[in-house]
Amino acid sequence: MSEVTGGTLYLVPTPIGNLSDMTRRAAEILRDADIVACEDTRHTRILLSHLGIERAVVSYHEHNKKEAGPRLIEALLAGKSVAQVSDAGMPVVSDPGADLVRLALAEDIPVVPLPGPNAALTALIASGLDARQFVFVGFLPRTTANRKELLTAIAKIPFTLIFYEAPHRLRETLVALENALGDRRAVTARELTKKFETFRRARLSELRAELSEEAPRGEYVVLIEGFHGEAEEEEAEGSWEEEALALAKTLPVKEAARQIAAKWHRSRREVYQYLLAAADK
Ligand code: SAM
Repeated sequence: MSEVTGGTLYLVPTPIGNLSDMTRRAAEILRDADIVACEDTRHTRILLSHLGIERAVVSYHEHNKKEAGPRLIEALLAGKSVAQVSDAGMPVVSDPGADLVRLALAEDIPVVPLPGPNAALTALIASGLDARQFVFVGFLPRTTANRKELLTAIAKIPFTLIFYEAPHRLRETLVALENALGDRRAVTARELTKKFETFRRARLSELRAELSEEAPRGEYVVLIEGFHGEAEEEEAEGSWEEEALALAKTLPVKEAARQIAAKWHRSRREVYQYLLAAADK
């Protein structure tokens, strides 16, 4: 039996790459709602066809929301159920939907959110950065002045910071982040849930240098460790290589590699091989 109730707005997350991540409940709501409002109709039709759902959809996006929003509210007030999806992940999160939610709440229309895929949280849980407290920043503003203002405002936040960025702006954004926040430990999470899913864990300067050699492709989440106070920033200024060499003088190489890998977010094998190579010299 369907849970869909007339006059309700459902916020329905969709996969961020792997179509198997669609939940059964989300698929049922897309099948049973009177109206499915989506960002890109072609994109959503592909998903619906994968789910074996044949139905009409209407478009609701950044550029038509002023007209499309009130039409959807009218339908909701007339007792229709509306399921809202974006192209990927959670609607509303760096995607259209927030205005519709506000319009609905202003009319006392029930809004029901469904849990599901989201790039920020998916990246966070495998980043190795502190996930107890974090701030989702999303896309940085485009203009230099606005970007600077935002980065200054978040520079001293002691929580992991999470950003979204388009591949062609990634390098420029990493430079802006390094300039404003310092050369902190960071993680790029690329193509999450897809065939070429890749995590890189290093300092911002290293991530930027890698990108200079290779033009980035695919979708990225950038995560940066929070501010830990001036003392720790200074302490972090050395390199993992120096610290590993020093530690290997007092500990077995395996143990030194384990400790350095955990502290500097490197792979244990990389540090171990570095220490073996250094011992051979
Ligand atoms: N609503 C979506 C969510 O809940 O994650 C975000 C949509 S936002 C328009 C698109 C941005 O999310 C991309 O530029 C990228 O930063 C991030 N993103 C989406 N899918 C991704 C994926 N599979 N891997 C890495 N980042 C992804």
